[in-house]
Amino acid sequence: MHVLIGRKIGSKGQLTCVNADAKYAYVVCDICCVDIELHGPNPFRMLHSAFYMKQQPCGCSKSHRWTKEQYEILLSRKAESLGFMFNGFAEDFHGKTTKISLTCAKHGEWRSGIISNFLHRAIGCPECKRELVGIRAKKDDDEIIKKFKLVDVFHPDTIFKRSNTKDAYGSYLWEMHCPLCNQMGLSTASALKGGSKSCGCKKQNPTQAYINILKDGDLPIALKFGISKFSEMRLKEIKKDSVFEVENFAIFRFTNSEDCRDAESECLSSLDCGILTKRDIQNGFTETTHLYNIDTLVKIFENYGGIRMSSL
Ligand SMILES: [Zn+2]
Ligand SMILES: [Zn+2]
Ligand SMILES: [Zn+2]
Repeated sequence: MHVLIGRKIGSKGQLTCVNADAKYAYVVCDICCVDIELHGPNPFRMLHSAFYMKQQPCGCSKSHRWTKEQYEILLSRKAESLGFMFNGFAEDFHGKTTKISLTCAKHGEWRSGIISNFLHRAIGCPECKRELVGIRAKKDDDEIIKKFKLVDVFHPDTIFKRSNTKDAYGSYLWEMHCPLCNQMGLSTASALKGGSKSCGCKKQNPTQAYINILKDGDLPIALKFGISKFSEMRLKEIKKDSVFEVENFAIFRFTNSEDCRDAESECLSSLDCGILTKRDIQNGFTETTHLYNIDTLVKIFENYGGIRMSSL
């Protein structure tokens, strides 16, 4: 009887040499013999030297070279366990990196995966994954939007949406659709959380209207009116921009910028405006009008809900 017969190898001692000739040992695997469909009939044949080196000739070996037919069995089984269908190879078979064709009941066929990834990493249907990621992202977005809405600055009907654009640092920019100015703005999440608007209201979110008197020395020349978020700062700007002296006549405070804007529009459309030129006053020369319009201006601002404050 050959010296190898009856000897055991394998990580679990599952391989037993049942026969041997001058060149080969014939071994039976306790594990693989159970699955004849995959492994074929035992015993497995191996060189004596391989047996002495305790190599595993069966599916128990991590580096086992599966045949095309065996891969077909493994892939079919794996696909079934994940709820997919294995259709076959998507290209000529060339080992474990061969691309495969699978079918998802929901999304149909895909061919992006290779044998080894599918068998060992259980990579599934890319569309299913995209959906899952989408659902997760949507949830995250809802959380972020909740934070934006906590900021008291935005109109309650403002719509926030993650855009497809990223900033230089790789952060997604967010769209804000503002019902007040009817404009869409783009900005970072942190800017929005900080309460800064990116829509048309960005430049100014005016809730104040002002009437200033432009004077040449002591002589009144014209009226300069307008709306602003900070009339005091605006006054300083006008003083810098204008060739005339500027004196504040009245300030009106509005509860919302819509009324404030509407009031200004009314002034512009119902009065003779733009009586000075850009040379006289760099920015906002169109909101200038005759001195005799002073009472009408006051009336319009008050009609739109402006509350007259003490002048600056
Ligand atoms: Zn085995
Ligand atoms: Zn799918
Ligand atoms: Zn706006």
